[in-house]
Amino acid sequence: MEPTHDVFNQPEPLTDYNLFVNNRPMRDALRFNAPGLDTDDLDELGVMLGSGEMQVHAMLANVNPPQLRTHDRFGHRADTVSFHPSYHALMAAAAGAGLHGTPWAGGEHAHLLRAAGFMLFTELEPSILCPISMTYAVMPALQGNPAIAAEWGPKLANRRYDGRFVAASEKSAVTMGMGMTEKQGGSDVRANTTQATADGSDAWGARYRLVGHKWFFSAPMCDAFLVLAQAPAGLSCFFLPRWLPDGSVNPIRIQRLKDKLGNEANASSEVEFHGAQAWLVGEEGRGVPQILEMGNMTRLDCALGTSGLMRQALSLALNHTAQRHAFGKPLIEQPLMRNVLADLALESEAATALSLRLARAFDRPGDRQELLMRRLLTPISKFWVCKRGSHFAQEAMECLGGNGYVEEGGEGVMARIYREMPLNSIWEGAGNIMALDLLRALRKGGEVADALTAELAPARGAHAAFDRFAASLPQRIDEATAETDGRRLAQDVALAVQAALLRQHAPDFVFEAFCASRLAGDWGQAFGTLPSTVDFDAIVARAMPT
Ligand SMILES: Cc1cc2nc3c(=O)[nH]c(=O)nc-3n(C[C@H](O)[C@H](O)[C@H](O)COP(=O)(O)OP(=O)(O)OC[C@H]3O[C@@H](n4cnc5c(N)ncnc54)[C@H](O)[C@@H]3O)c2cc1C
Repeated sequence: MEPTHDVFNQPEPLTDYNLFVNNRPMRDALRFNAPGLDTDDLDELGVMLGSGEMQVHAMLANVNPPQLRTHDRFGHRADTVSFHPSYHALMAAAAGAGLHGTPWAGGEHAHLLRAAGFMLFTELEPSILCPISMTYAVMPALQGNPAIAAEWGPKLANRRYDGRFVAASEKSAVTMGMGMTEKQGGSDVRANTTQATADGSDAWGARYRLVGHKWFFSAPMCDAFLVLAQAPAGLSCFFLPRWLPDGSVNPIRIQRLKDKLGNEANASSEVEFHGAQAWLVGEEGRGVPQILEMGNMTRLDCALGTSGLMRQALSLALNHTAQRHAFGKPLIEQPLMRNVLADLALESEAATALSLRLARAFDRPGDRQELLMRRLLTPISKFWVCKRGSHFAQEAMECLGGNGYVEEGGEGVMARIYREMPLNSIWEGAGNIMALDLLRALRKGGEVADALTAELAPARGAHAAFDRFAASLPQRIDEATAETDGRRLAQDVALAVQAALLRQHAPDFVFEAFCASRLAGDWGQAFGTLPSTVDFDAIVARAMPT
């Protein structure tokens, strides 16, 4: 044999490591947001999610995408989607970890803990988290129909995943999705044309028949959905089960599955409703605010999910560059590569800090400051963290050189991350919609500006650039009227809050590098342009998965 295929100077893959223990920024953020928090479950979850076995499930669920079966061989409608067993294994793991409805059962830091778990799970596989996220998010909106909430609530929180296509009454646990977007309008749901006609009432309240369609309808094998449709009093929110109480299947026709850029393990469909039965949730004509109670929670998950993807992309970049040699030393020791890695590490830590801080607000519904921050930080985090995601993934991919761009039958995790990244920015309200939502929140008066001032106060005096930046915000907020300024304002509020959080739970070298680059303008337009005064070694060492 000629020695043509000696493999050397190729890194060992990053596997069998504890995602939680290795995530120092996350651990510090949790300690800050919930001192004394018991993180044993996250530790255990971190081991499982970093295991080679779960990585294989993630790969298989993506290379064996869901299959739609519209009819059986006799011509009857089937309207089912089948998944690879690895999809179900991942769903069972996510539900088993309580990443869906469990926080609603209570617990002082239940939402924060679940947020950290969700972020860790995203590092392994993000697409199956679509139905998990919707099942988590639906609970507050579902309260608009107390009878259904009482009957379905316990099953939405049950940790024993049950993926069978049978009536909910026969299942241990159920999942839920949402249907708002139609062909002619997604952001502007007022354009919805699906019609709801009154059809009597029963134990679940006012019943309707739906006729119409949804252009995006993810996870159609969920047991039920909240959907929007036009009722006599206007756009309204409805509970639409796959199976009806009499044991028959509700006529929800799955037209086709979307052929997507990424997010391949998740089925996203187009559906038509052929007189499907649905029950009113909330008041007729108040559908948008009703379903937005769900949408606001899935927006939190978009920020958490992107933060998790960033962390995984960074870990892969660090793992690769630590092992790969070029020009006489490991890439990670090349000064310019250190700048890139440190810059990515700052971005990743800032995203983690902002997303977990927002999650904390969901644990304190009775606290006025937290309520205001929830209103402010939901559109800001969804906008800014998700907006940074694609850029981040491209740069992390480049750290792996050509290998980063290669899929190799699904083994190329970086390529999967890159294809997934834009999605969190688009769905649940794309970037402009988030910026406009921020302006709407600010128009409600000075209380929000005061809440932001209080949020930033702990970092006052710690860095001149921070002080200058923070001082300009209240006035900009008070004057926030022009839609054209919406994105810039969302970005700047995000940066200020991120800096304030880093001041409180990251080492000084992280805070100072963040302020110098993101607030003082000592930074270029690409990652890897940090000023040379930054402590690259300390920042890279902090981010390194061991
Ligand atoms: C994989 C995937 C799964 C999805 N799953 C679901 C699902 O399960 N259920 C569901 O209901 N939807 C789902 N969606 C739909 C998603 O939420 C919408 O695509 C999204 O809200 C944007 O709506 P649209 O596609 O109609 O685009 P449009 O509303 O046409 O928006 C296009 C662009 O215009 C911008 N824009 C809109 N209005 C304004 C304005 N006033 N000012 C400035 N800019 C504006 C938007 O920000 C966006 O960038 C899914 C989408 C994808 C890609």
